[in-house]
Amino acid sequence: MSAGAAATAAYVVAALLTVMSLAGLSRHETARSGVAYGIAGMAVALVATVVMVAESVSAGAVALLAVAMVVGGGIGLWRARVVEMTGMPELIALLHSFVGLAAVLVGWNGYLEVEAVGPAQTTVAPDLLAIHSVEVGIGVFIGAVTFTGSLVAYGKLSGRMKSRPLTLPGKNALNLGALVAFAALTVGFTVAPSLGLMIAITAVALALGWHLVASIGGGDMPVVVSMLNSYSGWAAAASGFLLDNTLLIVTGALVGSSGAYLSYVMCQAMNRSFLSVIAGGFGVESGTAAAVEGEHREVSAEEVAAMLGDASSVVIVPGYGMAVAQAQYPVADLTRRLTDRGVEVRFGIHPVAGRLPGHMNVLLAEAKVPYDIVLEMDEINDDLASTSVVLVIGANDTVNPAAMEDPASPIAGMPVLRVWEAKDVVVFKRSMAVGYAGVQNPLFFRENTSMIFGDAKARVEDILKAL
Ligand code: NDP
Repeated sequence: MSAGAAATAAYVVAALLTVMSLAGLSRHETARSGVAYGIAGMAVALVATVVMVAESVSAGAVALLAVAMVVGGGIGLWRARVVEMTGMPELIALLHSFVGLAAVLVGWNGYLEVEAVGPAQTTVAPDLLAIHSVEVGIGVFIGAVTFTGSLVAYGKLSGRMKSRPLTLPGKNALNLGALVAFAALTVGFTVAPSLGLMIAITAVALALGWHLVASIGGGDMPVVVSMLNSYSGWAAAASGFLLDNTLLIVTGALVGSSGAYLSYVMCQAMNRSFLSVIAGGFGVESGTAAAVEGEHREVSAEEVAAMLGDASSVVIVPGYGMAVAQAQYPVADLTRRLTDRGVEVRFGIHPVAGRLPGHMNVLLAEAKVPYDIVLEMDEINDDLASTSVVLVIGANDTVNPAAMEDPASPIAGMPVLRVWEAKDVVVFKRSMAVGYAGVQNPLFFRENTSMIFGDAKARVEDILKAL
C-alpha cells in the first residue's frame, strides 16, 4: 500500500473517532472517553497528514512542519494545564479565532496559487476555476467572520471588553448590507479575480464578524460561543474543500452541525430566537431597564447559621462567583453537615450559570456532591415556593426577577430560578455590583432577601464554624 493510500485509510479511522468523540461528549458518564477518542482521532489525523505531505515535499519542509507541530502542541499543552476553570470559555473563544484565521490564510494561499498566477500556470482545470474562486471567497468569508467574532467573544468573556451590546444605528441594515456586499464581491471575484476583490471580501467579513458579536448582549453570550464553535467547524470544512482534504471536510461539517444544534437547543432553553442571535441581535431593540432602588439588608455568618439551623429544606443556587471563589468544597461540607442534621439539601442549576455549559455541575462533581441532589432549573423551580432557605452563592443574572418582570430589561424573557418565592433568600457576593449581563438585580432589595458580603468561600467557611 502506498503512503497516500495508507493516509486515506487513516483519515477514515480519524473521522470515525471524531464521531465517537462527539457521541461520548453528549453524556456525563461517557464524556471522558469522548475526550480520549477526540485526542486519538486528532493524533491519527496529524500523523497521516504529515505522511501524506512528506511524499510531495522536501525533507526540510517536513522538518519545518514537525517543528511547527511541536511548538504549537507545546503551547497548547501549557495553556491547557495552567488555565483556570473560569478562564476556559475565553480560551475556547481564542482557539476558535485561530481556526478562523487558519481558514483565511488557506483561502489567501488558494488565491495566490491559482487565481493570482492565472489559468495558464495553475494545476486547476480551466472548467473548475470558477468553483475554486467561489471556494476561496466563501472560505475567506467564513474564516474572517469566525476570526474577528471570536476575538470579540474573547474580549467580552475575559472582561477586556464591556459585555453590553453595541447598538450602532441601523445595525440590522449594516449586517444585511455586509452580506449583500460579500455576495456581490464573490460573484465579481469569480468572473474576474483580483487582489482588490480579495482584500474587499476579507475586510467586509472581518468587519461583519466583529459587529455581529459586539451587538450581542452579555446574557446571550453562551449561545454566541457555541455559534462560533459551529462557525469554526464550517471554516475548517471550507478549508477542506480548498485543500482537497476529506478529513477536514468531514470533521468540519460534524463540528459545524453539532455546534449549530447546540446553539439551537441553548436558544430554546434561554427563550431566545435562534435567528435573532445569529443575525447579531436582529429584532432586539435595546430598551432601558427599570431603575432598581431600595434598601438591602445585610446579615452575618452567625445569623445565616441560625437561619439554616431552623430550616427543614435548603436549596443552594450556585453561579459564577462560586467558581471564582472556589467555594465548591466548603459548599459540599455545608451540604453534608446540614444533611446529617436532617435538613433536605438540593442544588438548583441554571443552564447558563457560570461561564460555560455544565460549569456548576463540573465544580460540584469535583467536590463530590452527589449527582442526585443536583437538579436542573426546570426540575427545582416549582419546589422553591415550599423551600425554607435558598442560598444564592455567587449567582446574579440567573436569579434576576427582572427577566420575568421588566419587559425592557436586556435579559427579559430569559428563564430564571425563582428563588424569591422561598421563605428566605441569602445572597453571597462581594458587593452590590451587577452580574455578567450588566443588569441590576431587584432580588437584592426584596423583603425576604438578606445579603452576606465577602468572598463566597470565606463566608461559607464562617457559616460552617458558626454551625
Ligand atoms: P453572574 O456572572 O451574573 O454573577 C456572578 C456574581 O458573582 C457577580 O454578581 C459577583 O458579584 C459574584 N462574585 C464574583 N466573585 C465572587 C466571589 N469571589 N465571592 C462571591 N461572589 C462573587 O453569574 P450567573 O452564574 O448567575 O450568570 C452567568 C452569566 O454569564 C449569565 O449572564 C450568562 O448568560 C453568562 N454567560 C454564561 C456562559 C455559560 O455558558 N454558562 C458563557 C458566557 C456568559 P460581586 O462582584 O459583587 O462579588
